[in-house]
Amino acid sequence: MKYFQILIVEDDQSVRNLIAATLKVHQYAFMTAESGEEAIRCAVSQKPDLILLDLGLPDADGVDIIKSIRSWSQLPIIVISARSEDSDKIRALDAGADDYLTKPFSTDELLARIRVAQRRLSYIQSRAESSGIFQNSDLIIDFEAAAVKCAGRKIHLTATEYRLLKLLAVNVGKVLTYSMIIKEIWGSCLETDIVSLRVHMATIRKKIGDSEREEPLIETHVGIGYSMVKY
Ligand code: CA
Repeated sequence: MKYFQILIVEDDQSVRNLIAATLKVHQYAFMTAESGEEAIRCAVSQKPDLILLDLGLPDADGVDIIKSIRSWSQLPIIVISARSEDSDKIRALDAGADDYLTKPFSTDELLARIRVAQRRLSYIQSRAESSGIFQNSDLIIDFEAAAVKCAGRKIHLTATEYRLLKLLAVNVGKVLTYSMIIKEIWGSCLETDIVSLRVHMATIRKKIGDSEREEPLIETHVGIGYSMVKY
């Protein structure tokens, strides 16, 4: 099994050492780069699972590094920067960074952000594995035929409802946040999308008869998101 590899890109030795020590204590595998050029070279040759990126590098602007990496990879990038202006955060996030941490930061917060990135990664990976037949309780999804059956009865879903149910199914047992689901299904995250999501979920539940079940398949996590319960 390959360890989760983190690339630390930071020219300030004390910060680099702090991050490295934190990762080491928590048993993450890591490598370091001190310049933009080294960061790109390392990202291409070592294919890390996550990059922690300082914006102020001696030879490059971190935002350009993000753009360069995004031209060939979707690997998670967390910016760690002393720049706390909104405009800097927006530039980095627009360029494709996944998250932004302002210096000075607490190591606990850094570790929490890394865990979020890891969950996101395992969630993307589980999507790739969605083939064949899925079965949970009396729900059966045939991914090849995009067909759904519940208690032996064929369930007619719209394309969006099917995609939502499939997303919950391939992530069975995991809570998916509103923003995660909306990003995946609609590609954006607006307030109106949350309303739309609620409506769709209510319809799916009705179609699969979830309210009449002793053990409902779909669970609502108020203010957080939804999950499919694993039986
Ligand atoms: Ca720096």
